[in-house]
Amino acid sequence: MKSTLIGRQAVVVGAGMGGLPAARALADYFEHVVVLERDALPLDASHRIGIPQGRHTHALLAGGQQALADLFPGFEQDLAVASAVPVNAGLDLRFERPGQGPLPARDLGLVVHAMSRPLIELTVRQRVEQYDNITIRQRCRAHDIIASQDGAAVSALRFENNEGRSETLSADLIVEASGRGNLVNGVLEAIGRPRPEETAIGVDITYTTAVFAVPDDAPTDWKAVLTFDPPAEGGVTAVMAPLERNRWIVTLVGHHGEKPAVDRDGFLAYAHRLRTPTIYDAIKKAEQLGEIVRFGFPASFRRHFDRLEEFPRGLLPFGDSICRFNPAYGQGMSVAAQEARLLRELLERHTAEPDPLVGLAPAFFAEATTLTETPWALAAIPDLAHPKTVGQRPDDLEQRLDFTEALFRLAAEDLAVHKLLFEVLHLLKPQSVLSEPCLVERVKAVAAQA
Ligand SMILES: Cc1cc2nc3c(=O)[nH]c(=O)nc-3n(C[C@H](O)[C@H](O)[C@H](O)COP(=O)(O)OP(=O)(O)OC[C@H]3O[C@@H](n4cnc5c(N)ncnc54)[C@H](O)[C@@H]3O)c2cc1C
Repeated sequence: MKSTLIGRQAVVVGAGMGGLPAARALADYFEHVVVLERDALPLDASHRIGIPQGRHTHALLAGGQQALADLFPGFEQDLAVASAVPVNAGLDLRFERPGQGPLPARDLGLVVHAMSRPLIELTVRQRVEQYDNITIRQRCRAHDIIASQDGAAVSALRFENNEGRSETLSADLIVEASGRGNLVNGVLEAIGRPRPEETAIGVDITYTTAVFAVPDDAPTDWKAVLTFDPPAEGGVTAVMAPLERNRWIVTLVGHHGEKPAVDRDGFLAYAHRLRTPTIYDAIKKAEQLGEIVRFGFPASFRRHFDRLEEFPRGLLPFGDSICRFNPAYGQGMSVAAQEARLLRELLERHTAEPDPLVGLAPAFFAEATTLTETPWALAAIPDLAHPKTVGQRPDDLEQRLDFTEALFRLAAEDLAVHKLLFEVLHLLKPQSVLSEPCLVERVKAVAAQA
């Protein structure tokens, strides 16, 4: 352990895809890190009740994989050993946009890994468990955060332990990665402080997901498929990806009241009506494994903690507690991993301060806002194109949609643009790289030909 300790104990609420990397980031700076998780955690890659979304397709983008590898060196090898399926994002993913054929299959130098959400989480958890100073306490449900009388700082957390008894843990830092942010909101209310403003986009989508055994005659020219409708009709409409143990996962995405059926015939009929036959043709005779499941996602939201004038010392919301993205763009876990890497960088920078924790939350909120800007915009702009989506539309929405359309057409023609665009979609680069004047000129020229 480093000699840069800034506190005795940090407590993380939630052992999900935000809490686990956050715990690793804290482990170098606190004597003990305690992760409280309400679920019993499985020893294998099976589903658990606290992660209902885990039965649906979960893509780990290259930016998220990179952040996890920065926190856990050798993480990609762990994924490979765990039987995750390597997917070359330019070559193996059939990217089916409307108005053009699939993007040309090209090696863009981006290799990600496809696997189930339980397997991603298990792989991260096994790395976290290797730290002697991190303790994961299962079946412990956090109840409330205790603040000092003047509300300037938080000092402890009350929870129900695995024997059903109430316990209190003192903490120099409490990170809420419960996926909801209720505890942070609760303590802000208790000390009479305002909650953060929230921006929401009512996308009202319904995920319906089935898993299949990969048949012997499976196509060999792709491993994964992403099918889009025009943005005004909903954008991402189906995702298909490989899973460990020679399986496929297929998610059909219904928009604004469309609910793909949960029986095999209805599911296949919905897949048959997709804009392209790729997914239907692949699964129509494949053996279905287990039940078809559904998940309703009413709205993406973003909480503007960076706009609060004051925030209690020693408290940090994290992951989905700050920003919940439309899952169809596959960003949430990757952003949470990038936030954990950011947290580690900030702790490193703050160790030299007389009170390292005093400016931590404001610095984190400012930089996390920058970090979430690209993924938020990548989803929000197409989502707002649907007439039924509820949300504040920017004045230049039409221009932005036309720009994206033309950008994809240019990407189909030009390998360098294709690569740059995918680096942005995979959260390796900010969206601002797509505003370079010479690129903008070329995109406008393509748009003018339409
Ligand atoms: C349908 C769907 C599909 C998605 N697909 C993708 C995808 O393809 N790619 C992607 O990157 N992201 C995807 N996401 C988003 C991703 O699931 C989340 O962004 C990510 O899990 C956020 O991590 P988190 O730690 O904030 O929350 P979670 O990972 O949800 O973890 C929260 C944890 O806190 C625990 N908890 C809750 N309350 C308490 C309490 N009071 N006390 C103790 N423990 C508690 C829960 O049991 C859980 O373990 C998807 C989301 C949905 C809904």
